[in-house]
Amino acid sequence: MVVQMQGLLSTLSVLDIIDIAVVAYFLYRLYLMLKNTRAATLVKGLLVLVLIMIICRWLNLHVISWLLEKSMTVIMVALPVVFQPELRRALEQIGRGKLFHKRSELDEQELEAMLDSVAHATKVMSRDKVGALMVFERATGLVERIETGVPIDGLVSSGLIQNIFVKDTPLHDGAVVIRGNRIVAACCLLPLTENRNLSQELGTRHRAAIGMSEQSDAMVLVVSEETGAISIARNGELMRYLTVNDVKEILRRAIFQPHAAMKVSLADRLKGLWGGDKK
Ligand code: ATP
Ligand code: MG
Repeated sequence: MVVQMQGLLSTLSVLDIIDIAVVAYFLYRLYLMLKNTRAATLVKGLLVLVLIMIICRWLNLHVISWLLEKSMTVIMVALPVVFQPELRRALEQIGRGKLFHKRSELDEQELEAMLDSVAHATKVMSRDKVGALMVFERATGLVERIETGVPIDGLVSSGLIQNIFVKDTPLHDGAVVIRGNRIVAACCLLPLTENRNLSQELGTRHRAAIGMSEQSDAMVLVVSEETGAISIARNGELMRYLTVNDVKEILRRAIFQPHAAMKVSLADRLKGLWGGDKK
């Protein structure tokens, strides 16, 4: 074994290292792309199957290994059929050059301005009992959600946010997705949480906020139409009855320390993988 390793290492050239690095980078990009999609659950499932297969081989359980191997072949054939929409979208993205799309890097001033606008709009909407739902994208890409809505690509301003959420206007329904200091889209459809232990007072708007925060590291701000109460969902939990200052503080911390949040979400993901992931 050691001799084999030494043999391998001695033939390792700079080109091999570049080769491996490129593949690793692409796998990482693929991971980021899949992270928040239906396909992610499936990849988890496949990994578990492969793991079981390896264990069965190791234990010399021939019949089970044989069965698993055969079913893997069937699954591989079925995959492109089942995931045709996702595959098409991925190919389209590569075609549009969006695979390497860079997340906007903002300076502190721009972010503070964004927070001020959001806080001001939240204050006014809470006072006037205008329902609102805002998703702040962080490390997890929300392309799937954005595509359910209407593209905006406008600089965040208090006026624009308030305008979008005016009742009975074309764009007020659903959620706004904010990336950096831009409103990427409005009218986006969010996944509802399946959590059954929530208070009855929480309707679909709040459940959509919680659902979104379960499936990504995004922060989701809700203004209740019924009560004007302000809440933020994060990691599947809803912080309720916040003040505008709380909102600013929570969002500021989340946006300025993206990596701390990444760690949390990674831990949660692992929990989800081994715990009761329903899908
Ligand atoms: P409120 O306190 O504002 O009444 P609520 O939690 O009681 O909120 P509903 O009264 O059911 O929720 O709010 C309905 C609104 O929530 C819809 O008009 C729509 O704008 C938004 N909404 C509902 N479901 C979703 C969803 N899946 N994705 C995005 N927005 C949603
Ligand atoms: Mg309601």
